[in-house]
Order: sequence, then C-alpha cells, then structure tokens
Amino acid sequence: MKALYYEELTGHQAIRAGDLPAPVFGPVDVRVRIKAFSLNHLDLWLMTGRYPQQVPLPHVFGSDAAGVVDAVGDAVEHVRSGDEVIIFPGLSCNRCEACLAGRDNECASFSILGVLQNGVSAEYATVPAYPVFATPPGLTFEEAASLGITWTTAWNSLVLRAGIRQADTVLIHAAGSGAGSALIQVAKLFQATVITTVGDDWKAEKARELGADQVINYKKEDFAEAVKRTTRGRLADIVVDHVGADTVARSLSCLRRGGSLVTFGATSGDEVHMSLRYLFGKNIRIHGVYVGPRAAMPQYLKLMPGIVRPVIDSVFDFADAGRAYERLVSRQFFGKIVVRV
Ligand SMILES: [Zn+2]
Repeated sequence: MKALYYEELTGHQAIRAGDLPAPVFGPVDVRVRIKAFSLNHLDLWLMTGRYPQQVPLPHVFGSDAAGVVDAVGDAVEHVRSGDEVIIFPGLSCNRCEACLAGRDNECASFSILGVLQNGVSAEYATVPAYPVFATPPGLTFEEAASLGITWTTAWNSLVLRAGIRQADTVLIHAAGSGAGSALIQVAKLFQATVITTVGDDWKAEKARELGADQVINYKKEDFAEAVKRTTRGRLADIVVDHVGADTVARSLSCLRRGGSLVTFGATSGDEVHMSLRYLFGKNIRIHGVYVGPRAAMPQYLKLMPGIVRPVIDSVFDFADAGRAYERLVSRQFFGKIVVRV
C-alpha cells in the first residue's frame, strides 16, 4: 500500500512516500481504506522529537482519518465492508475502572493512534473495531477526517469538564486553530458569549461567522485588558488556553471567581509560573484535558452536519503532505488542514 512515513525525527521535511506492506488484521479489527486524514499539532511534536516517549521508526503518522471499511474481522458486528466510518483515535483497554466509567482517556494504557503505533497517513489503516464510528450522512470524508482529536477535545473541555452553562462567558484562544473553530461552535450551542483571539485580521471575520461575539487581535491589543473592557469587569466563566507559556498567566486574570481554566496544549511552551494564592483566593478550577473519552464522539456526531460542522481550511493531495505541514507551521490557516488519500 502507498504510505507516508518518516524515518528520522527532523520535522515534516523528512516525510517520505513509499510502499509498505498492508497491515494485517485480527478477528476484532477493522481495515479501513483511508480517504482523508487531518493534521494535528501533536504530529509536529512527534516529528520533531519533542514527544516524551520513543516513537517507533519508520513511522506512519496521523491520528484522525475517515474512510470506507475494507475488511472486518470475524468477531466484528457493528460495521461492515463498505461502511463509511470515522476512526476515533483514542485506544484503551476497555476493561479497567476508568474505561468502564466512560473515562477511557484516563485509562492507564490510553494512547493515541499514530503516536506509539502506526497511524493513518496511508491507503489503509487497521484498527480495533471499537473506536470506529459510522460517518453521519452529509459529512464529506474531509470533514469526517477532521473531527477526532479536535472535536473530542473541544467537547470534553467545555461540556464534560468545565461544565459550561447557558449564557456563560467563554474566552477561547486562537480561533483559527482546529480546536478554536470547534470550541466556538460548542460554546454557542449554550448561547455563550464568546470572546476569541486571532493573530491576523483576516481570521476575525471567519471567527465572527462561527458565532464569536468579540474577536481580539492579540498582536494589537492585550487580550486580558480586552476581556476586562468588553465584559465591563465581570470577566469570563471559562477560559480555554491551548497556547501555554505566553498566555496562561493573563488567561487566569480573565477568570471571575469560581471560574475554570482549561488547558490541553502548549504551542508556545509548557513551563508556566502561577500564583497559588491567586488560584485559591478566587476558587479557580484548572482542568487538564487530554483529548477526551470515546463517548464524546456520538454526542457531537449527532449534531452534524445540521447544527455544527467542522471547519476545513484546506485540502492537500497525498503527494503534497509536506506542504500541508508547512501551512500548519506557518499559522496562516483557519480550521483543519486535510490530506486526501
Ligand atoms: Zn482501561
């Protein structure tokens, strides 16, 4: 089968295309003919050797994909050959207390497809059947491929962890990121007042189209001052910060008493200073979020495509995957970057 892979951890320039043996599958597995996969920042952490564990090489990368079921193991019942499916990228034991409680992303063996085992940047991927979901009618392969990590993280952050309530005020960093474009839509399901940030003016209009009420260009205006001003000092109930070192201290200052900070990424660095007195003095909760449970996926899939819909920035051909990652690195995108297989 055709596959994209890398043999050294030197970044997206090392991506190669070649022929690899098609993966074999067992009785509880599904083989999916991949039609599209989407890019995540996680891929870049892996490719540049910044992931804390050893990535096996050569490595077929990518975590989020959609396609058509090509073959199923004898014990698989819920999908059949020919079904259009989304592969949820969270793998877990399915037996432990966390898994049985629907918190499989807290399983001791939780892992993300494409991290410590081969991923989806290939003609075929073989995965266990349990994380495979039927694609809702009306979603394209490109859209279906862009959901897994992004939408599960967004849903888990606001709905399952921070417990968003009707008409909350929510600050969402980086509207143009895949997560940002999902978070805005999830927050608007709760009639939230959404304040979001962009680093380029051209992204502001797109953020407003998704429902953002206030868009701050953080390069022109201090976002914490802007939150104070636009909320008339009431501040935010929830701040979702996946930027990290550059923003977390000021993100905390945007929270009202009893508010929640959600963190699931650190694109600007992951070492931060914070005042504990500030945290306990304001009754602030911090939610560290690593993707989310598999149960989140059917919760948001049933809203698609009629009520919410993934935002696709661009679609690249298989041979141009390197250029797709260049676009991700450039930050000149809005929504998900997808590669068609
Ligand atoms: Zn488990």
